[in-house]
Amino acid sequence: MNDLPTAPRRSRVLHRSSRATPPVAVGGHGVWLVEQGGREILDASGGAAVSCLGHQHPRIVAAIHRQADRLCYAHTGFFSNEPAEALAEELVGHEPGGLTQAYFVSGGSEAVEAALKLARQYFLEIGQPQRGRFIARRQSYHGNTLGALAAGGNAARRAPYAPLLSDAFSHVSPAFAYRGQGEGEDEAAFTTRLAAELEAEFQRLGPQNVAAFVAETVVGATAGCVPAPEGYFRAVREICDRHGALLILDEVMSGMGRTGTRHAWEQEGIAPDIQAVAKGLGGGYQAIGAVLLSGRVADAVEQGSGAFQHGHTYLAHPIACAAALEVQRVIREDGLLDNVMAMGTLLDARLQERFGNHAHVGDIRGRGLFRAIELVADRASRAPFDPARQLNARVKKEALARGLACYPGGGSVDGVRGDHVLLAPPYIVSAAEIG
Ligand code: PLP
Repeated sequence: MNDLPTAPRRSRVLHRSSRATPPVAVGGHGVWLVEQGGREILDASGGAAVSCLGHQHPRIVAAIHRQADRLCYAHTGFFSNEPAEALAEELVGHEPGGLTQAYFVSGGSEAVEAALKLARQYFLEIGQPQRGRFIARRQSYHGNTLGALAAGGNAARRAPYAPLLSDAFSHVSPAFAYRGQGEGEDEAAFTTRLAAELEAEFQRLGPQNVAAFVAETVVGATAGCVPAPEGYFRAVREICDRHGALLILDEVMSGMGRTGTRHAWEQEGIAPDIQAVAKGLGGGYQAIGAVLLSGRVADAVEQGSGAFQHGHTYLAHPIACAAALEVQRVIREDGLLDNVMAMGTLLDARLQERFGNHAHVGDIRGRGLFRAIELVADRASRAPFDPARQLNARVKKEALARGLACYPGGGSVDGVRGDHVLLAPPYIVSAAEIG
């Protein structure tokens, strides 16, 4: 008999870290997650701004059961299904901002990939095949699949896969006032400078070659809840229109109510031609994302080739659509966007009270229930912490040890690395839970 000690068995799941298996979540209720062993964790970021209705909402669980009992799957090459039709009606039935159709996929990266391909196909349909260039921003994350990664500006995520990334994408400066606005430069001048840079990039590429400008309406993971300065998106919209290019907005993280309006662009006075949504669409109850198409794009496909040259096996999955439909109905029927606004204001006030004068807090920002704290080594100079200190990982670990799940992140913006803690509690959060 061999009684030598054995090494702890490696998990058969390849986790995000291949060296550590995270704690196992076994349950949840409301804003709380339950770990194996029974410890309760306050889910203050809904994962990565996903769980907009918290956990185990009875209406969503019941909707999933109902749909599973009725029809689990029918391939979209042969059939439509009831939840997909109803969900599209819920999302674009009233043509918000001119959006008229929805295309359902399985998550955010897939939605961005489809949005990029749709923009390219739009120009083939209308007889402008030379338009194959895309402009995005250096501070952005659009997903980890190859097209989405090529669009993104997160240097660290891109670097290992650089040989696989398309050079159809170029990047302009982020609209990030805390790090980008010059000393003595006011908001209007900052916006004008950013617009001029975008215009110059169109000119460099040849405006007739540009298919689309791609941006997160409110930047999420790379910099932590960064809304653009006043007037920025109006200027962007005007430039795209003047050059006949499309505007693709990635609201995978910031959309579906997270900032207090269903779409974050509603607060910008513009609308996109193509939009990607995901996380808050299904609230994590099922894997679902969507591309929302303006009438202009939908009509071009219908009147052109008649088919979007794209497709996956799990498009418009009935159970995913049923879950998302119920999530959206609950948000609407329970008036939860009002709660997002009210609790967002309260959360901001609490953060300002507690951390507004903290020596290592450089900025507190965001909209609705989409808030972030920027951590700096020095408040006056805004100098970031040394990346070797791995602040992100430490904040996450320390917070979890204290029973709080938040979403720390760090991104390099034009060579300056920043650290932030992102908070995105469920829309059902109460004043007592905010504390
Ligand atoms: N776009 C944005 C703005 C995101 O924040 C994310 C994910 O965090 C994605 C796209 C990719 O979404 P997914 O992880 O569902 O593929």
